[in-house]
Amino acid sequence: MSGNARLPPLNTEGHYADDFEPVAAQEVYDPIKEQLIQRLLGLLGEDPARPGLQRTPLRVAKALDFLTSGYRLSAQAIIEAAVFEEDVKEMVVVRDIEFYSLCEHHLLPFFGHAHVGYLPNGRVVGLSKIARLVDCFARRLQVQERLTSQIADALHHHLGAHGVAVVTEASHTCMMMRGVQKQSSRTIASAMRGTFEQDARTRAEFMGLLSR
Ligand code: ZN
Repeated sequence: MSGNARLPPLNTEGHYADDFEPVAAQEVYDPIKEQLIQRLLGLLGEDPARPGLQRTPLRVAKALDFLTSGYRLSAQAIIEAAVFEEDVKEMVVVRDIEFYSLCEHHLLPFFGHAHVGYLPNGRVVGLSKIARLVDCFARRLQVQERLTSQIADALHHHLGAHGVAVVTEASHTCMMMRGVQKQSSRTIASAMRGTFEQDARTRAEFMGLLSR
């Protein structure tokens, strides 16, 4: 057995005791999370010390931090980093923005595409920032409906757009792998703000652009 398979006990602050000398090969990333995941592996009936699982707690801790990194991002900062004064009156639409999120009920992935449109009000935002905005809300524990509304509200509020439309289409692994086991169902959610909510023609123009 290589390395130190079992993590040493934590002190009251959640760190390793001072007398613990880390083995060079053993990187420690987040002791508290790693110990919890190691415990979970045991509770699932696994042997956390077997070679294939020795570094799993560390990897899972890193993966979970990445998949929830949206909590540490500010939608306002993302948008305001690339706002340009521009007298554009036409609808701006970014289609097929890939996203991956975690359902808050099962901590299982749901993933798909977001389509975002807005009607500028003297200001436009860099297109890559719209994709970043989707990630900012997708990389959290979510339900698809809230993810969709949060993207729409952030653009409406921080960009001051006349209107915003967001449609998301997603496959939920919690439905595909467990429960009803419906592999091919897709869930569609939409959020309309401002002119897209009030004006059926604006909404229809956006939907028309999505179906091309
Ligand atoms: Zn779920």
